[in-house]
Amino acid sequence: MTLAPFNPTPRTLMGPGPSDVHPQVLQALGKPTIGHLDPQFVAMMDEVKALIQYAFQTENPFTIAVSAPGSAGMETCFVNLVEPGEKVIVCRNGVFGERMRQNVVRVGGEAVMVDDEWGTPVSVDKVAQALADHPDAKFLAFVHAETSTGALSDAKALCALAQQHEVLSIVDAVTSLGGNELRVDEWGIDAIYSGSQKCLSCVPGLSPVSFSAKAVAKLEARTTPVPSWFLDQTLVMGYWGGGKRSYHHTAPVNSLYALHESLRLLQQEGLENAWARHRAMHEKLKAGLEKLGLSFVVDEASRLPQLNAVYIPEGADDGAVRSALLERFNLEIGAGLGDLAGKAWRIGLMGYAAREENVVLCLAALDEVLN
Ligand code: PLP
Repeated sequence: MTLAPFNPTPRTLMGPGPSDVHPQVLQALGKPTIGHLDPQFVAMMDEVKALIQYAFQTENPFTIAVSAPGSAGMETCFVNLVEPGEKVIVCRNGVFGERMRQNVVRVGGEAVMVDDEWGTPVSVDKVAQALADHPDAKFLAFVHAETSTGALSDAKALCALAQQHEVLSIVDAVTSLGGNELRVDEWGIDAIYSGSQKCLSCVPGLSPVSFSAKAVAKLEARTTPVPSWFLDQTLVMGYWGGGKRSYHHTAPVNSLYALHESLRLLQQEGLENAWARHRAMHEKLKAGLEKLGLSFVVDEASRLPQLNAVYIPEGADDGAVRSALLERFNLEIGAGLGDLAGKAWRIGLMGYAAREENVVLCLAALDEVLN
């Protein structure tokens, strides 16, 4: 059988991720592969670490990119930090809070759920009550930017509560990193993970992770071995940690070139400017969507600029509209997920996708297809 090389049609990616990759990042990906213990590569890894520290606004020495997608970053936090029998307060206001619960259960922890309506942020009051009711809890886990609904939670207030009750915070920043204000050290976040494919304008497959000194101490004080070999950070640190780099697994060399370039571009733009760009593009998109008669799932006060969930208008065929956008305009928007499946579309403005030309294309294409 003779197969032709795979040649995907270029698309504009305005779904929940992956989002548009910056052309310079794609170029970086095609640079010559070198050994992952080559001194040049090792020097680049030091820069990647410093750039992740910048993006997270942290000086945590334990800051790395896990060689796998955001889900592995999530798992890295739970398998390393939570030991059997430990109580974790888990906030669930969408799909990814539920995944956190599943992670807790799989490592033998006890999940105490704080539930909020889909499309609303995590209730700080309910979390305060849960912490008061469970003085033996060891962790508070929540999603900063819930990609399934487009709701932003108050990470600063939630982490302040965690500190007050002396529990460690575990924060999902897969969609928020690079798109929303996020200050790991200032807000006292203990364990945080993200993904390369959303507001960082990078290809999928890597997960920036950072642990505070308190989280590292918790890991070092474990009385049971970390139940995953690959994600055991006591082993990974031999490779990412300072000093001698020893082999743990073969690093995804070219993907790390891409992450380096994407974070370099973020640093060049400046974090605050990137947050402001996402906000400005959201305002433009919002005005156009409202003109088209579409209404948002999330109240304005807690709406994510980079993930716009809007109700599917009456009479519109969900699948047919998304197919027409893809086939006629090479434009991808996201379907609803979980409770919002068939009820909402998720329009992403993440990273390099948060540009005026994308907003204009999306509004014009939706107008064509819907009217
Ligand atoms: N957490 C959130 C909030 C996400 O949006 C996603 C992916 O969409 C994940 C975790 C999982 O990341 P990945 O799909 O890269 O494994």
